[in-house]
Amino acid sequence: MSDIPPVCDYEGSDYRTRFWEGQGRDYEDQVERIALRRLMPPTGETLIEIGAGYGRLANEYHGYNKVVLFDYSRSLLREAQAHLGDDLRFIYVAGNWYNMPFVDGLFSTMVQIRTLHHAADVPALFHELARIARPHGRYILEFANKKNLKAIARYAARRQEWSPFTGEPVEFAALNFDFHPQWIRQQLLAVGFAPQRALTVSHYRFGPLKKTIPTGLLVKLDAIAQRTGNWWQLSPSVFLEVHHPASGSPTAPHHFFACPTCKTLLGAMVNGRLACPNPACGHQWRVENGLYDFKEPQN
Ligand SMILES: [Zn+2]
Repeated sequence: MSDIPPVCDYEGSDYRTRFWEGQGRDYEDQVERIALRRLMPPTGETLIEIGAGYGRLANEYHGYNKVVLFDYSRSLLREAQAHLGDDLRFIYVAGNWYNMPFVDGLFSTMVQIRTLHHAADVPALFHELARIARPHGRYILEFANKKNLKAIARYAARRQEWSPFTGEPVEFAALNFDFHPQWIRQQLLAVGFAPQRALTVSHYRFGPLKKTIPTGLLVKLDAIAQRTGNWWQLSPSVFLEVHHPASGSPTAPHHFFACPTCKTLLGAMVNGRLACPNPACGHQWRVENGLYDFKEPQN
């Protein structure tokens, strides 16, 4: 798997307490939920959240029969399991998003929020997501927008070298990328996705504003401003409603996992392992305490 691009690894991180809880991000959390509810079909068969972390948004998915929380970090998924473990609709899967361990056409809805900015190879990721997308389903995608007001102001004042107006992604810190909305649309179209509505989100993500204006009021103002997303996108965060590629056929309901190495269908678990039946591959994958671990094959 040496051709896999580098992956941002949150293994063992204190992401929940360091970034979200008690860190003044109630505003971001609430406006993201509003955008998600506006774009996501409220009910459906199978949903995957790509980069689900500790399951911050899991309680938005109550209308789905099966919910895969997918992340590269086993430890964050264990945190999700600790607070969702009693709900049997949730499935915890660790793996690399360039090699997803699922059969083609599996997911009616795919959600990706606050993780695309860690993707070093967006075209490869979108290509893989198009494979596991069920025809006529929905992909709700959030990305960090390089053409935001702050970046434009800094560029105009010559306090920032990179241009917010050019198409290519900018890596402002190691494995942290901002994207141009037009570039994202081009990459989606290239693999058969059809981008639809856009919502701009987190217009008031600015420390002094968040300190002086009540969160509830800022959230209301952002909810109104989100609707302008179809006309212009100048906020740091953009949500897209994307239609899945129409080609392909939905997968049979009892088919679920496929070997991430060779994409052969995986059968039932034996002794805590899912073994790839393809003799040319033979990789085995560990299942431990309800966590499906596809990060690296076992011997
Ligand atoms: Zn295999």
